[in-house]
Amino acid sequence: MHRHPGATEAPRGGGLDAGTGPWAAIDSSAAFWTLVTRASEIYWTRRAGIAAVNAARRRRFDTLVNYARIHSPFYRDNYRSLPTSGLAPADLPVVTKSTLMANFDAWVTDPRVRLDDVVRFLGDNEHVGELYLDRYLVWKSSGSTGTPGIYVQDVEAVATYDALVTAQVDNRGWDAQAVWRMLSEGGRAALIAATGDHFASIASWRRACRAHPWRSARSFSVLEPVPRLVAELNAYQPAFVASYATLLYLLAEEQVAKRLRINPVALWSGGERLTPAMRSAIENAFACPVANEYGASEALSIAYGCREGSLHVNADWVLLEAVDRDYAPVRAGEASHTVLLTNLANRAQPLLRYDLGDSIVVQPEPCRCGNPLPAIQFQGRCDDVIGLRAADGRVVHLPPMALTTIVEEAGQVHRFQIVQDGPDRLQLRLEHGPQRDAAWTAVSRALRAYLAEAMLPNVDVVLSPDAPIVDPGSGKLREVIVLF
Ligand SMILES: [Zn+2]
Repeated sequence: MHRHPGATEAPRGGGLDAGTGPWAAIDSSAAFWTLVTRASEIYWTRRAGIAAVNAARRRRFDTLVNYARIHSPFYRDNYRSLPTSGLAPADLPVVTKSTLMANFDAWVTDPRVRLDDVVRFLGDNEHVGELYLDRYLVWKSSGSTGTPGIYVQDVEAVATYDALVTAQVDNRGWDAQAVWRMLSEGGRAALIAATGDHFASIASWRRACRAHPWRSARSFSVLEPVPRLVAELNAYQPAFVASYATLLYLLAEEQVAKRLRINPVALWSGGERLTPAMRSAIENAFACPVANEYGASEALSIAYGCREGSLHVNADWVLLEAVDRDYAPVRAGEASHTVLLTNLANRAQPLLRYDLGDSIVVQPEPCRCGNPLPAIQFQGRCDDVIGLRAADGRVVHLPPMALTTIVEEAGQVHRFQIVQDGPDRLQLRLEHGPQRDAAWTAVSRALRAYLAEAMLPNVDVVLSPDAPIVDPGSGKLREVIVLF
């Protein structure tokens, strides 16, 4: 989100309701004032122009590098041969999730934070509603690289993410009339996500809720078959809907077909690539704007969408480097192989030139919307929407996030590929190894149950003899592909 919210588990105590969970502790602490201070600082820095934004980023970069060298044994060792000052980002070695996770206890800057202890904390329901060590929000994710990640954010970092969202509200074009309509529509908000398990989206949702004036909010599971989801949304009549791009797109189709009949004032898309075509299809179907956010488990707010369809990088708090396979910079206008993320907001677990795995394009020209922050297009994680033929000939579309969540949760596997290789056939590619048979048994049962509920009991689900196959062009593993 996640960049992709896919396969991110809930933080301990992370709930949807305002005023509960660790967020409540944050709200009532001094971090609230950090939020106020940060929001006004972000506002004034950006108003002063891109030179001020770049200066703020350089200053924070120097501070974080020094902090990491002093407090993180991992970085101290990793930077041992580097000069003690005047470092540019390109001077630092790249880090990966697998390296950081393998050195977790040395990576974190607070020696009280220990991997085995965090894992125990995450697994223990007695700690619901608490901050870890009274000052950290923790969550975990699997992601498509196969190494589970455990993320520790200090309360100041979370306040910064909140402040970044607050700073974006201006940009979303929601005027007083829209707010009035929101309230007159009943002020109901709906989140459709892998509820309870996908923290990045839940957290973004929680922040979006805080920034806007609705009266009630409800979450729906992305695992529900689309017809049932449509019926529930018709009954609930939300004024605001937040979900993954592909799911909003499916709902737009339902709205055009008049099976879905809702009248939202605004929509929010996160976690997946929102293409210009998807965006206009969704906005036309619902006659309202879609706000788009690019975030990840590693940094909840990396960039946000503007009316021109670009994403603007929060360049005062995030450094994003578009690079090729060898981590050399790629030119503006070219798709990167991956992107290196430096998150300047979080000191608990410093991320400096971290290989995030997404592909982006940096726009060569300034964005037409006038926002001076660097404009990018997000290329990565563009899973195909699967359309399967039902027994009566109708084509039923399924959101990729629902399918990947089922495979991850039922099979406990993190590297796999779902391939549609015929109008009514799905193939699953699983890694070869001792777990393969057990995973297949569990996944095939769960997928068949989901398909039966989606009125697709006729669809064949078969195990491919192949292991997952990485895209030869991008070097990435796409989890859901259509090949026929
Ligand atoms: Zn723009």
